[in-house]
Amino acid sequence: MNRDFYSKLVFELSQPGRKGYKIPDNHLPEVKLPENLRRTSKLELPEVDEPSVVRHYNNMSTNNFGVDSGFYPLGSCTMKYNPKINEEVAAHQAFTSLHPATPDKAVQGALELYYTLQCALSEIGGMAEFTLNPYAGAHGELTGLLVIKAYHNSRGDVKRTKVIVPDSAHGTNPASAAVAGYEIIEVKSRPDGTVDVEDLKPLLDDTVAAVMMTNPNTLGIFEKNIPEIASLVHAAGALLYYDGANLNPMLGMARPGDMGFDVMHINLHKTFSTPHGGGGPGAGPVGVRAGLQQFLPNPRVVKNSDGSFSVVTDEKSLGSISAHLGNFAVEARALTYILSLGKQGLKEAGKLATLNANYVKESLKDVYCLPIEGVCKHEFVFDGLADKSTGVTTLNVAKRLLDHGYHAPTIYFPLLFHESLMIEPTETESLQTLDEFIAVMRDIAREAKETPDVVKNAPLNTPISHPDDTEAALHPIVNYTELTEL
Ligand SMILES: *Cc1c(COP(=O)(O)O)cnc(C)c1O
Repeated sequence: MNRDFYSKLVFELSQPGRKGYKIPDNHLPEVKLPENLRRTSKLELPEVDEPSVVRHYNNMSTNNFGVDSGFYPLGSCTMKYNPKINEEVAAHQAFTSLHPATPDKAVQGALELYYTLQCALSEIGGMAEFTLNPYAGAHGELTGLLVIKAYHNSRGDVKRTKVIVPDSAHGTNPASAAVAGYEIIEVKSRPDGTVDVEDLKPLLDDTVAAVMMTNPNTLGIFEKNIPEIASLVHAAGALLYYDGANLNPMLGMARPGDMGFDVMHINLHKTFSTPHGGGGPGAGPVGVRAGLQQFLPNPRVVKNSDGSFSVVTDEKSLGSISAHLGNFAVEARALTYILSLGKQGLKEAGKLATLNANYVKESLKDVYCLPIEGVCKHEFVFDGLADKSTGVTTLNVAKRLLDHGYHAPTIYFPLLFHESLMIEPTETESLQTLDEFIAVMRDIAREAKETPDVVKNAPLNTPISHPDDTEAALHPIVNYTELTEL
């Protein structure tokens, strides 16, 4: 491996005796630690001066790509711009110095924030109550399914062992259902990308606990048959779960609760903006319709008749699923975002997200293969290039985009097509950014015909070009000694 491509590790910058700090002179008598508490081996810390440390971490930070560096059309992830006012509020000392064990009466402001966000999400989702405790979308799914399980169990209805999931679902849906102890049954999509109601009907019986749906689904297509699906699911005694990762285009336009969903989660880090590359931080609040509140996880925040707030626990609850009240800083960002946009602003965001996706789709569909025609919501999926004779794959296109300074779209998901290329521009991109991206995508399509090897060998301008993804996933090198042995 050519280490020139990587920032050196801070350990490699170490020089004996070099320091980046000076401890004040000691005015106190020396205390000898008992023998059994002393180190037996040398503490191996890097010896570096302050400028080296600053340059080291600063340079590493520029090896990263984020929403603040450029266009990030990663389908399904809603990589919208995150307004900096959110960060200011989340970093406020009144919040960062909180301790979970502080008595309720000393943290009324924080509890009010939790309660206000809970109510805002309930209104946006059309639900009776939300818990903000889960840490991510997937964690929300698990929590929601455990709420559903607690509901069925409370009725003595214990033979419901299955959860139905569409073939277009995000991988977390079947995974969460499996972790919750359910057997997963797949329901097929129709050629237009929506769930096949005829395929669903025979699967519904008294062994089904829930049906999980995403709307708009992972193809960016609005599922129009939800009212019919909801009545079929309810007639079978099961509950309907809404994966709210794609809530962005629905903001202020339609509410899952009104469509007949019983339980839902929202990815605060997607729809309500928190920087979330590289696996965190996030929050996956779960909302339930009236009648299911008592099953939500402990603790809950309630408003008392005198206007104060309390943290309470409920015996019927499924128990606790996180440390205290969830990822508080993400909650603070989401409430700041919601209040600074307001009702009208949120509605505008949803509409623009839809408009931007349709604009990019329509501008590219003559050179990329659009398997499902029609209006999409906030995202859409191409099935590779329109011209299949070039041998250029979706992976090649994605890699070539890196040469132009873009984050690649989501590739090879959903699994319904062989060459899925899933694009989600979000509402925060300007017409200029979209036009530049469209021009580059068209250029790549032209290159695929004229000089296919350029696209196949891309990226040409990045520090790393073709890492072995499988090897990296199966045998990650996470250890300094292993790295230096390469
Ligand atoms: C992102 C996503 C999830 C999972 O959410 P995480 O916060 O990443 O756990 C679930 N479903 C869909 C449709 C998603 O896009």
